[in-house]
Amino acid sequence: MTGLARTIARLGLVLSVALGSTAQAPSSTSAQAKAADDEAVLRAFSAINPIDVHVHVFKTDPAFQSMLERLNLKLMDILVMDDSNPHRKQLQPQIDDAQALVRSSHGHVALCTTFDPYEFGSASFSAGAIHQIDRDFAQRAVAVKIWKNIGMEIKDSSGQYVMADDPKFEPIYKDISAHGKTLMTHLAEPDVAWGPPDAADPSWSYYQENPQWYVANRPGFPSKQKILEARDHVLADNPKLRMVGVHLGSMERDLDNIARHLDKYPNFAIDTAARMEYLMLMPPEKVAAFLVKYQDRVLYGTDLDLHADANVPETLSEWQSTYARDWRFLATGETFTVEGKQVHGLSLPGPVLQKIFHDNAIRWIPGL
Ligand SMILES: [Zn+2]
Repeated sequence: MTGLARTIARLGLVLSVALGSTAQAPSSTSAQAKAADDEAVLRAFSAINPIDVHVHVFKTDPAFQSMLERLNLKLMDILVMDDSNPHRKQLQPQIDDAQALVRSSHGHVALCTTFDPYEFGSASFSAGAIHQIDRDFAQRAVAVKIWKNIGMEIKDSSGQYVMADDPKFEPIYKDISAHGKTLMTHLAEPDVAWGPPDAADPSWSYYQENPQWYVANRPGFPSKQKILEARDHVLADNPKLRMVGVHLGSMERDLDNIARHLDKYPNFAIDTAARMEYLMLMPPEKVAAFLVKYQDRVLYGTDLDLHADANVPETLSEWQSTYARDWRFLATGETFTVEGKQVHGLSLPGPVLQKIFHDNAIRWIPGL
């Protein structure tokens, strides 16, 4: 071990203790150096007062709270209705748990609520959804999420897949816009869900674990384009509605297409949640030019989660390495390895980082 390596390793240990790192003590020199490195990167990340606009937290936990305080981190906790997941089947218990988390977070967590789209067939669907989200707004919810079950799962009485531009949703969009709140849309899925199996795609493992969303070769299933066109109709019909298309607006492989959407719809922005790896695999000059040009339209998000039965130390360690990885990619010129591939940091200018990690969240999601 060189003197420098020893110093870095020792520094790593000291910083782990100082920052209260919950990670296991590193067992090798390189792991120690990596931990020291991550701690330094996380200090730079925390100095920008980062906001992660896309997380799913199902638990109130003191170690989690202290991580938020240590990183100066603010989160938007997003609710989702998913009838295939026992924890996401019922709406009100999710709202209650999330409100408890928000109240105990000392300002570190805000709520993005949702409504129950599985009620679509009921005659009082639109009015009921509006009543409930208005109540949540009164309790300081800052945004509303709609999810891929619209377009890909829920059907109307004639057996057709319900699209986001269905007239039944229109009064809900008008209500969100009238309250000055933001609509977060996760519509459609990555291209690979419609394509041939592709082990090299960053989302491929998700479809192995969740085959119900892998829709290639399903006769009669809507195309991705049709689902996104319905979303675009919502943008065109509601120019005063601020919409954040999460997961790079579901256009994860095509920066030019994202750019066309941002140019065409001034009320549209995107988040990076769970799609940073796609950006890491593209030519770095192209990604940097895109992020500089659209520096007012990209919000930082991760899609990290904390489940009720999670192993908290392990999960927190995953959160911190994700934040360190993303900061390394956007803010530094380092070369590093992700999933076996070399990634080059973009060294974005400070003012651009300030917008992506903080300012855009506040501007696009007022109340955060
Ligand atoms: Zn998510």
